[in-house]
Amino acid sequence: MYDAIKQCVGGACMTCGEIPTKMISYDVGDAKLIEKYCDRCFNK
Ligand SMILES: [Zn+2]
Repeated sequence: MYDAIKQCVGGACMTCGEIPTKMISYDVGDAKLIEKYCDRCFNK
């Protein structure tokens, strides 16, 4: 379960490059955009 989430999130925080724990996805036109943030940046 945890591995699945970790793999799904992957990459790095878009703001600071740390390991991301939050993922925000939203639709932009035809594309689905996914942004990833760590706890610290997400709470800003
Ligand atoms: Zn961050």
